[in-house]
Amino acid sequence: MILAKSKPCPCHSGKNYGDCCAPFHARTTTAPTPEALMRSRYAAFALGDAKYLLETLAADHEDRKLPLEPLLASYRQQKHTFRYVGLSVLATSVDGDKGWVTFRARMYEKGRDRSFTERSRFTKENGAWKYEDVEETQEGAK
Ligand SMILES: [Zn+2]
Repeated sequence: MILAKSKPCPCHSGKNYGDCCAPFHARTTTAPTPEALMRSRYAAFALGDAKYLLETLAADHEDRKLPLEPLLASYRQQKHTFRYVGLSVLATSVDGDKGWVTFRARMYEKGRDRSFTERSRFTKENGAWKYEDVEETQEGAK
């Protein structure tokens, strides 16, 4: 475990890590909804859990075409580059094996606001939700 279960979850749900994203990161269970998966990926970026980020990509996600080691290194680097200060889910929907989550991720890079709003698409593969791609993204502070 990279973070104590009693600590606040890095996805900013207001819950303890152990009651929120830890069971997904520990592979004890899989995220039951696209929203839960998205939250757990945000937390994984904040924690530098590169393997989780890779495993939760859909089979045809473009990152999977990249060389593995540099990709994992770039995922691990994110927690040093950014401060992950907030996450708000604005909308979510599910239609069978497809899901969508619109969220606002608040983050800073060396004091600069690098927050963005994104509508992400998710897909269920072998019973587990995976991150498919970005449908729409909007950068900048609001
Ligand atoms: Zn969480």
